[in-house]
Amino acid sequence: MKTIDEIERAHPDLTALRRDIHAHPELAFQETRTSTLVAERLRGWGLEVHTGLGKTGVVGILRAGSGKKTIGLRADMDALPMPEHNRFAHKSTISGRMHGCGHDGHTAMLLGAAQYLSTHRDFDGTVVFIFQPAEEGGNAGARAMMQDGLFDRFPCDAVFGIHNMPGMPVNQFGFRAGPTMASSNRWDIVIKGVGGHAAQPHASVDPIIVAADMVHALQTVISRSKNPLDQAVLSITQIHAGDAYNVIPGEAVLRGTVRTYSVEALDKIEADMRRIATTLPQVYGGTGELDFVRAYPPLVNWEQETAFAAQVAEDAFGAEHVLRDMPPFMGAEDFSFFLEAVPGSYLFLGNGDGGHRLESYHGMGPCQLHNPNYDFNDELLPVGATYWVKLAQAFLAKP
Ligand SMILES: [Zn+2]
Ligand SMILES: [Zn+2]
Repeated sequence: MKTIDEIERAHPDLTALRRDIHAHPELAFQETRTSTLVAERLRGWGLEVHTGLGKTGVVGILRAGSGKKTIGLRADMDALPMPEHNRFAHKSTISGRMHGCGHDGHTAMLLGAAQYLSTHRDFDGTVVFIFQPAEEGGNAGARAMMQDGLFDRFPCDAVFGIHNMPGMPVNQFGFRAGPTMASSNRWDIVIKGVGGHAAQPHASVDPIIVAADMVHALQTVISRSKNPLDQAVLSITQIHAGDAYNVIPGEAVLRGTVRTYSVEALDKIEADMRRIATTLPQVYGGTGELDFVRAYPPLVNWEQETAFAAQVAEDAFGAEHVLRDMPPFMGAEDFSFFLEAVPGSYLFLGNGDGGHRLESYHGMGPCQLHNPNYDFNDELLPVGATYWVKLAQAFLAKP
């Protein structure tokens, strides 16, 4: 893997930095230690630094030459509310919190690129380094930064983000144009009946019967009424009703999630769900209501920017390290908000199994994201930092 020598020399420092962040995980919008660390580093390298976008977000600006083009490079900084089971020295120092998604590594890779570019400035234009809070758990730190004027204050011609991907070979880059990650949406259906004595069903409207029917009716939204060519998932993950053996409850609640790759499919599914949620209970004499919350939109990579980003990886590391048609997956990611506003691409970098192939995984392969034994692979740090540098240099090529 041909990385930049100077970045390679910074590898021990980047590793120490990454492990320090790993040991001090911070949850959404609470990334004060991490963002202070990021801002201090950026200032130390002479970047113009802006803090407080999306509460704890940090933006670093680096200019060179007289070019007007601007590229945005983004890393996420937040950790997860989960326990860590690793025993290595840099394991989480805070119980119930863990960098289980590798955002510690994303932050360190982007800092590595900022350090290199700050001393070389061999490009023509502006690089906007975006350190984003609160990607996890539907907190939409990306949107929070935009609401604080991210792209009004720092307009970007294109924006890019990287996520590490366990199970993909180390140093393998993955690209995909078009819909790549799913929209994430949560919903509640409240069914109102008439409560009563379990021995007198004729004097009640039983919401449990309605709920049971609704479980099946909702699945027909996926199997019968959406276009079969649209990928979508509707999962009912909670049913709550009743407290006693001999009481018919007055209410039942269903909750769950919907994932889609397009807004059109999502509109259709939400409308179909609403129709079922309101009319099906009426068949039984009850009423029903749907509350549908759209958390993250589908992540749709831009055609041209994705081809450009893939070409940069091929030129830097060779075609054998580049997968141009990575399969999509149903996870969600709030970088999708950026891509609704600005052209760009979200790409993936193989994390391998990082020596974390677990016995407890019983043939399930490498340790995945959000697993308590996951760790970001430090081998990727110079590779990711080199890629960021090459991408910025190519996008802001000197005339
Ligand atoms: Zn995650
Ligand atoms: Zn993540």
